[in-house]
Parts: sequence; C-alpha cells; structure tokens
Amino acid sequence: MMRLPPFEYLAPRTVGDAVKYLVDRGPEAMLVAGGTDLFPNMKRRQFEPKALVGLRGIRELRGVRATEGGGMTIGAGATLTQVATHAEVARRYPALSSAAGLVSSPQLRNMGTLGGNICVDTRCNYYNQSFEWRKAIGFCMKKDGDICLVAPGSPRCWAVSSSDSAPVLWALGATARLVGPAGERTVPVAALFKDDGIDYLAKRADEILTEITLPDADGWSSVYLKLRRRGAFDFPVLGVAAAVRREQDIVREAHIVLGAVASQPREATAAGAALVGARLTAEAITRAADLAAGPSKPLDNTDFTHPYRKKVTRVYVARALARLAGLDSGPSSYETGG
Ligand SMILES: Cc1cc2nc3c(=O)[nH]c(=O)nc-3n(C[C@H](O)[C@H](O)[C@H](O)COP(=O)(O)OP(=O)(O)OC[C@H]3O[C@@H](n4cnc5c(N)ncnc54)[C@H](O)[C@@H]3O)c2cc1C
Ligand code: SF4
Repeated sequence: MMRLPPFEYLAPRTVGDAVKYLVDRGPEAMLVAGGTDLFPNMKRRQFEPKALVGLRGIRELRGVRATEGGGMTIGAGATLTQVATHAEVARRYPALSSAAGLVSSPQLRNMGTLGGNICVDTRCNYYNQSFEWRKAIGFCMKKDGDICLVAPGSPRCWAVSSSDSAPVLWALGATARLVGPAGERTVPVAALFKDDGIDYLAKRADEILTEITLPDADGWSSVYLKLRRRGAFDFPVLGVAAAVRREQDIVREAHIVLGAVASQPREATAAGAALVGARLTAEAITRAADLAAGPSKPLDNTDFTHPYRKKVTRVYVARALARLAGLDSGPSSYETGG
C-alpha cells in the first residue's frame, strides 16, 4: 500500500489567510482542495510539499450564482457534483454540466472541486507510476530525472492536459479570478494554460483560483464529448468541447476546444472559423471536423495509440457538431476496450 509522506496541514478560513500561508511557506507549500489528484500524486512522490494549505474551510470559495449580465459565477471550491447537478448550469451550459459529471467516479466528484479540476496535474504513462516504478526506469524530467522518456531528445516535457472541464470553460469563454499577494486579477480561462507538461499553468504559485465566471449563454449551445477506456472512472484520452452561437440557424461564433491532445487544451481555431456564417449542415460539419484534426497532436504517452487518438478527433468533432445541429443524439462518453 502506498502511504502519504508526513506534511503539515494548514486550514485557513479566508482567501487572504491562504495567500499569507503560501507566501510564508514559499515553494515548500501547495494548495489542496478535494485532494483527489494531489493526494495520490503525493503517495507516488510526484509532489513532496512540506505544508498543505487546505481550501475546504473557506466559505468564499463555495457556491454557484447568477451574475447581473446574464452569466454565472462558480466558486473554485464548488464540487464537481454540485456543478454537474446544478439545474441552471445544465440549462445554460450543458457542456460544463456533462464534463463535470463525466470526471472520474461519484465519490471523487463529491470531493473534487472545479478549481482542482482546472489545475489538475498533466499526465503521462512514464510519470503516473509509483516511486519504485519510476526509479526502475531512471525517472524523467517531470520529477527526479533529467530526460523525457517519450521524446528523449526533447528539451521539454510533453505530459498531457487531462482536465475535462478546462476545454469546456475555454470554449464557453469563461474567465478566472486569481488572488495573490499583489492583489487580484481576472484572466480568460484560455490564458491560464501553457504548452509545457511541467510548467502547465500560467498562474503564479502563490495565486489562488477563487472563481470562474461564465458569460451570458443567450443564443449559445454547447456540448462535451469524452473518449476513455473505462466509463467507470478514467481520465479523458480525448475531450471535445464545442460551443456555437447562432442567429436564425446561422452560426455567428464558434469555439471547438480539444482536451488531452497536448500539454494544454487546444482550440481548433480554423475549424471554428469555418463554421461562422454557415448553417450546421452535414457538409459544414465535415469541413470543420477535417480542420479540427490538424491541431490534435497526441504523443505516445497516454492510453490508446496516438495515431488512433489523432484519427478519432475528426470523428468526435463531427459527432459533437452533429449533436448541436440536432442530427445526433448519442451518449456524451464513449468507452472502448480497443
Ligand atoms: C481514479 C481517478 C480518476 C480521475 N479521473 C478524472 C477524469 O476523468 N477527469 C478529470 O478531469 N480528472 C480526473 N481525476 C483527477 C481529479 O479527481 C479531478 O481532476 C478533480 O477535479 C481534482 O479536484 P480536487 O479538488 O480534488 O483537486 P486537488 O487534488 O485538491 O488539487 C489538484 C491541483 O490543483 C491545485 N488547486 C486545487 N484547487 C486550487 C485553487 N482553488 N487554486 C489554485 N490551485 C488549486 C492543487 O494545488 C493541485 O495542484 C481523477 C483522479 C483519480 C484518482
Ligand atoms: S512527457 Fe517525458 S518528461 Fe514529461 S512526464 Fe512523460 S516521460 Fe516525463
């Protein structure tokens, strides 16, 4: 059995106190929300913080509420179950509701938070292993080693962004509020990520993600499709988030964002642009799906072969758009043993 290493647990009651703890402890401290990603990673010694700053006791991080402009704000500490089962979230942002409901298992969704899901660590077959396994192969640069075992000549890590909610929030045009020692700032969710498997978040280590705000959903429809091996709890090996705004059937804005194909969610911008001004016909969908496969560049470091994962991007984008057009009514998650 893998055990947690010893650590000090700090339990602030306000965001301000949490920031103070982060500043005082510096690189020795990490934030923990539900712990459903961090604790397994600590058991495998992928992270070895001396102190954890727990966010569960901070009331201001909780809750889901409507905003004045017709949007919604969701606290970073809202659990995935709360997001998935919130009637107004489901009505206005069905893609977010599905994505939250497809994360892992019911137990982990009851503990896991939206903030933790956005900040979830990147994944790789050579990294998500026990300490002994990683030691036996000489470690890799993401932790304890100095080379990449997937691409040995590469100066960077290619671990995969594996969040279900991140591509959806990006496609929906959500913004994130960050609070740190220098004050607070609001950034588009799309600007929160970096294409680097180790340094994958564009927020400072002493900043706390406090809430997500979604814009008015009037005229928008959205969908999220997920591919994984086991429906019971697996991470995505491909996620497709699609959001379109239509006026009398004509697409005026479109965002297609792919998950689990790179170290950050990746927007298929040419595919979205190709839909603008068109109806969601079978021809327009095929054209956009072909274009969406371009930015999908999976490597051989998660489940299934990478050529297969690239190939099915086109299929999943076509299915997602067909769902928005009312031409398809299949499930949101596809499991395959192949
Ligand atoms: C078996 C298993 C299956 C899983 N399947 C999936 C899956 O299908 N899809 C998926 O997306 N995830 C999956 N996960 C990962 C995880 O359960 C979810 O991503 C969950 O939402 C993480 O939220 P948390 O609150 O538990 O995060 P934590 O584990 O508490 O934290 C995760 C990371 O986020 C940081 N963090 C947390 N909150 C904040 C904040 N407010 N501000 C700044 N940083 C913060 C932490 O420091 C840590 O680095 C799985 C995990 C397991 C163990
Ligand atoms: S992509 Fe390379 S460096 Fe990154 S976790 Fe995998 S093997 Fe390690």
